[in-house]
Amino acid sequence: MVKDKLAFIQKQIPENVILVAVSKTQPISAIQEAYDFGQRVYGENKVQELADKYPLLPKDIKWHLIGHLQTNKVKYIAPFVALIHSVDSLKLLQEINKQALNNERTIDCLLQFHVAQEETKFGLSIEEAREFLDSIDFALLKNVRIVGIMGMASFTSDSNQVRSEFKSLKNIFSQLKTEYFPTENSFKEISMGMSGDFQLAIEEGSTMVRVGSSIFN
Ligand SMILES: *Cc1c(COP(=O)(O)O)cnc(C)c1O
Repeated sequence: MVKDKLAFIQKQIPENVILVAVSKTQPISAIQEAYDFGQRVYGENKVQELADKYPLLPKDIKWHLIGHLQTNKVKYIAPFVALIHSVDSLKLLQEINKQALNNERTIDCLLQFHVAQEETKFGLSIEEAREFLDSIDFALLKNVRIVGIMGMASFTSDSNQVRSEFKSLKNIFSQLKTEYFPTENSFKEISMGMSGDFQLAIEEGSTMVRVGSSIFN
């Protein structure tokens, strides 16, 4: 039962940490079951799937886009998305800003960082992030708000490796906070931790865990 697994996960998460229930590939019925049990924040990794599910579920759900986002698809989620975890270029942020403006809203975003060993994972380095946070083009964006960072650890059973990658993310967060967002209380989120490593991530300072298979499978 989804609700039993959800309850089991919720018990392990402190109150100050947000649980994003990753509902990718799950049917509406499973999401509705979690919703009925009180879960309001969901993460999807594909734009099309998110746009298809949105109209079929209650409107007070906070939908997070957690997967890679292509510029030409931003328009499909801009009217309703609550948080985009996967911003990894200025070009993408500019498009999110444009579509947010079209919808007369501000869209909250996280900058995604690459800390894992795998080559395939998307994300910025801190140098790349500084480059665009320093730019005039970034300063012009009034309809996006950077509220923190996101990252994924390596897919490995070596918990020392995973822990050190979470420490790197926390470090990146602290540096950006000091350098760019010292007075912005809204810059506070560190999205890290999945089914296999969320306890470790919380120990290392995660404020937002993205848990899918432990709830739905
Ligand atoms: C699928 C996914 C998750 C959840 O992974 P589980 O191991 O199923 O908990 C978290 N983050 C991202 C970016 C994902 O694509």
